[in-house]
Amino acid sequence: MSWKDNLIKIEPYVAGEQPAKKDFIKLNANENPYPPSPKVFEAIRDFDAGLLRKYPSADCTGLVKAIAEYEGLSPENVFAGNGTDDVLSLCFRAFFNSDKPILFPDITYSFNTVWCDILRIPYKTLHVDKDFNINSADYARENGGVVIANPNAPTSIGRDLNFIREILEENKNSVVIVDEAYVDFGGTTAVPLLREYDNLAITRTFSKSRSMAGMRLGYAMGSAELIAALYAAKDSMNSYPVDSVAQAAGIASIKDEDYFQSTIKKVIATRERLSSELRGMGFSLPDSSTNFLFAKHEKYSAEEIFGYLKSRDIYVRWFNKPRISDRLRITIGTDSETDALIGALKEYIK
Ligand SMILES: *Cc1c(COP(=O)(O)O)cnc(C)c1O
Repeated sequence: MSWKDNLIKIEPYVAGEQPAKKDFIKLNANENPYPPSPKVFEAIRDFDAGLLRKYPSADCTGLVKAIAEYEGLSPENVFAGNGTDDVLSLCFRAFFNSDKPILFPDITYSFNTVWCDILRIPYKTLHVDKDFNINSADYARENGGVVIANPNAPTSIGRDLNFIREILEENKNSVVIVDEAYVDFGGTTAVPLLREYDNLAITRTFSKSRSMAGMRLGYAMGSAELIAALYAAKDSMNSYPVDSVAQAAGIASIKDEDYFQSTIKKVIATRERLSSELRGMGFSLPDSSTNFLFAKHEKYSAEEIFGYLKSRDIYVRWFNKPRISDRLRITIGTDSETDALIGALKEYIK
C-alpha cells in the first residue's frame, strides 16, 4: 500500500475550453452572448468595498427574499448558492442518502455521475430513446432519488408539465430534482407543482439566461423541509458560501425584468434563425427550448466539423461519448457570431 492508493480516483467533469487567446468565437459553454443587466454593472460599481470587512449574509437573506418574491414563493422555500453546480452538489448530499440507486437519463448533464462517484451515491442511468426523449414510465421503479434536467442538456429538448407530473406521481417516496438551468429560453417550469409535491426540488442558475456565469450564482426551490436539509448540508461544509458582491449583483439582476426578457427574446430569435439555416445545410436537430442546438450532419462527421470550426477560431462543443459523438452542441451567440458560424459551415459543406 502506498499513500497514492488513497488518492481520489474520479473522472472529473470537463468544461468547454476557455482559450487564452482573444478574437475567437466561443459557442462551447452555453454562456449568454449579451452582458448582464446594466443594473448589475451599477450594483457592482456602487458596491461599498468597506463591507467586505464583514462576512456575507450566511443565508443570503436579501437575495433569497428577492428570488422568493420573483417566483411567488416564501423565503423558506428558496436556497441560494455558488452556481447551480454548488446547489446541486448540496442537493445530492442533502437528499440522496438511501442505499437504493438514484435515477437519471443516460444522456443528461454529465456532472451527475461525477457527484455520485465522489459522494459514493449509487446510481442507475436510464436510456433515452433514439430521439433523445426521456420516457417517464422508466422512472417508475424503486430508487433513492430522481434527477431530471428540463429542458435537458445536451439534447436541448424541453418537456411539458405533465411529463414532470408523471415522474412525481411515481416517486412519492423519493426526492425528485428538476434542473431548470435552461427553462427561461422557452421551457416549462415545474414551479406550479411545488404546491402539490413536497418532495420536488427545482434548481436554477444565473449563468445562462442572466448572463452571469462568472459570478457563480444559482438557487433551489422546494418545500421548507427540503430547503432546511440544504442549509444543514451547507452549514456542515461551509457556512458562508455566496460572497457579498455576488449577492448584491444577483438582487440587481432579479429586479431588472425588462432587460432579462429582452435578452432572452434576442437569443430565441437567433436560435430560430440558426436552426433553420442548419437544417437547410443538411443538419438534423431537435427543436430547442434552450440557448443551444444539438445538431448532426447527414454526411459530415461531427468531430471533423468541430476541428474545422476550431481552425477557424469558432469553438463549439463535441462530446466523444456513446450515442452522441455524431453531434455538435452549438451555443447561440450574437447575430454576428452566428453569421460567422453559418459562413464557415457553408464553406465546409459544399
Ligand atoms: C450550466 C448548467 C448548470 C450549472 O450552472 P452553474 O454555472 O453552476 O450555475 C447546471 N445544470 C445544467 C444542465 C447546466 O447546463
